[in-house]
Amino acid sequence: MPNRPNALTRNQQLERLLEISRTLSSTLELAPLLQAVVDTACELTESEAASILLYDSNSGQLRFEVGPGYQLEGLSKISVPLESSIAGWVFTHGRPLIVADAANDPRIYRAVDRALNFDTRSILAVPMMVKREAIGVIEAVNKSEQDHYTEDDRAILETLAAHAAVAIENARLLEKLQEANTELRRLDTMKSDFIAIASHELRTPLGLILGHATFLKDLISKDYAEQMEVIIRSAMRLKTIVEDFSTISHKDEGMSRVRRSRFSLGKLVEDMNTRFREAAVEKKIEFGFDVPDDDPLMIEGDRDKVDVALANLVRNAITFTDSGGQVGIKAEGIPGYVRVFVVDTGIGIPTDSVGRVFDRFFQVEAHLTRRHGGMGLGLSIAKAMVEMHHGQIWCESKEGTGSLFCFIIPVDEKQATAAARVFTTA
Ligand code: ADP
Repeated sequence: MPNRPNALTRNQQLERLLEISRTLSSTLELAPLLQAVVDTACELTESEAASILLYDSNSGQLRFEVGPGYQLEGLSKISVPLESSIAGWVFTHGRPLIVADAANDPRIYRAVDRALNFDTRSILAVPMMVKREAIGVIEAVNKSEQDHYTEDDRAILETLAAHAAVAIENARLLEKLQEANTELRRLDTMKSDFIAIASHELRTPLGLILGHATFLKDLISKDYAEQMEVIIRSAMRLKTIVEDFSTISHKDEGMSRVRRSRFSLGKLVEDMNTRFREAAVEKKIEFGFDVPDDDPLMIEGDRDKVDVALANLVRNAITFTDSGGQVGIKAEGIPGYVRVFVVDTGIGIPTDSVGRVFDRFFQVEAHLTRRHGGMGLGLSIAKAMVEMHHGQIWCESKEGTGSLFCFIIPVDEKQATAAARVFTTA
């Protein structure tokens, strides 16, 4: 306890307050920070002790959070009722209070003194406010030299209370954020586990359905051929979903590798054109492609993976374009990369959804009300396939006008390694 002759000068007081604000902005550790606030409160208001009480919404009472080290164990067991204590009054009224003669004040909650074998003579208490709401109280007790608490003391304690309130609020927000993050990670793991289990468990029975249905198709009478076709088509659709699931779970489990070989991306684009021509014609969509005549666009990459990426983009372009629309694929060489565009004049994507279309399970329209099938996985798979090559994929779109999807793939492993460095440091 500082004696009067050693009392701090105004400058020294400001220095101490400044130290607390510096600590506040440099640490997220609440306990040492609040302890520093209490110690500084004690020193600057020349009090015998100081403490912080926080409101506990479960009990509807105030609980000591920080106090003088030697009393903390005793204090932590005590709850202070709102209706018959100084701290409770300050908390409920949201106003500071000075009690000069505590011995004769009926509002004092005597249980604290009794439990700690302490003798409270005077109190200065101020509320800790967050957005105009009290979250707790700071109390300084027993002004030294039997003196009275002053308006200066009140101002100092209010400054410290504001600091403590910010620190507590930050810590609570951080805790909430960490909880939300943990929950998100848990849900993400559940999602990955579900995908892995579904892809594994569905594969065998689906193979059996397809095998037997194909076998029966040739044996049964023509009268049932159509029903058999429906069974086979539906099973094929399920097979595509299971394949998507297994592509994702392979990637999640780090089992997916880029198996490089030399192939022509120009030829791959031509193959896409052949593969999707029928679907486009059926929908009366004008479908074309554009690749250089004099350059096969050779790359060293995983043909199957680039095939999956490009097919998913083309399938979407046809799905989300109405009759009379156009879909085009274009591929060209740029230094170190091949660049591929898939363009359509379809329904487009609303601006606020463009940034999310590559997220897993994201669909612009709600799944149950939308006109088109799909699981919201195609683009996330395309992105994964491109990024495994250290390429980049993006989308530009305007609702009602159409969409452009573009990706670039490094031409070989050397270029991919260089791209990995650029894209991870960018
Ligand atoms: P899905 O299997 O549902 O098509 P994707 O991951 O391939 O899943 O696409 C996610 C969503 O992005 C789609 O449901 C659709 O809302 C939107 N989308 C994708 N491609 C296009 C496109 N070419 N035009 C308009 N919307 C698109």
